[in-house]
Amino acid sequence: MPSLPRSFSVSAAGLWRQCPLRWRFRYVDKRPDPPGEPALLGTFVHRVLELLCAQPAGTRTVERARELAGEAWPDTQNDPDYIALGHDETSQRDFKWRGWTAIENLWRLEDPDQIKVRATEAKVQATVGGVPFFGIVDRINVESDGLVITDYKTGKAPRPSDLPASLDQVLLYAAAVEDHLGERPRRGRLYYLGTGIRETDVTDDGLGGAVDRFTEAWADVGRACDSGEFPAVAGPLCGWCPYIADCSEGTAEITDRARRGRLRDDAPARLLLGL
Ligand code: SF4
Repeated sequence: MPSLPRSFSVSAAGLWRQCPLRWRFRYVDKRPDPPGEPALLGTFVHRVLELLCAQPAGTRTVERARELAGEAWPDTQNDPDYIALGHDETSQRDFKWRGWTAIENLWRLEDPDQIKVRATEAKVQATVGGVPFFGIVDRINVESDGLVITDYKTGKAPRPSDLPASLDQVLLYAAAVEDHLGERPRRGRLYYLGTGIRETDVTDDGLGGAVDRFTEAWADVGRACDSGEFPAVAGPLCGWCPYIADCSEGTAEITDRARRGRLRDDAPARLLLGL
């Protein structure tokens, strides 16, 4: 029987909820899950913003960010996963433009020169609701009434109905930071670079709900590891699953979607299944 992983993250919990079989491929069988273009774009943007926040207050300008983007770019350009995208000159220029636009949008949300930064890309190992938690917090600010958790997003903001689930991430980071530092952050913010900020206060009720959902997912993982049963949950996201060629349910779902014209042209499954 598979053994429980040593730690559980927000992204692992999200993948578990999406499809237990995909979770097993990724976290038990440890099959490669190469980042796609959106993830690589996000990594580039995060790196530049991390470098920017490491600059002294008073120097975090758009011009400095542009220089830092130039310094960070070779790491992305030489990343084997980026090279595998096979960009030509035009698509590379488009990728860089989208990355830069996301970075520059930070100034629509805040003046980074006014931010007191406590930490960036902070690795947090903690116990959250009895679960061994691991996460990387993009930024911890110090504001007049306490700490604030910030997470940058290069994707679209969620629909209002999906927002509470999205805010679970910063609430769980707040719980982990409290366990780690002994100080409860006051707020958690998702910075959708291009859309706006979504924020929540860190309250007992908010924390309780987020932690309960996280511990439920962990308990389900434990039961699956005991039973060895990891059901496939097929849906539109199978189009972006790197394991689809080994999954009959996902293959049937995506083949049918393609036949009905319901599969996006950029879905990697097209290539993996030869559609
Ligand atoms: S193809 Fe779909 S159903 Fe199959 S493992 Fe991937 S996400 Fe799950």
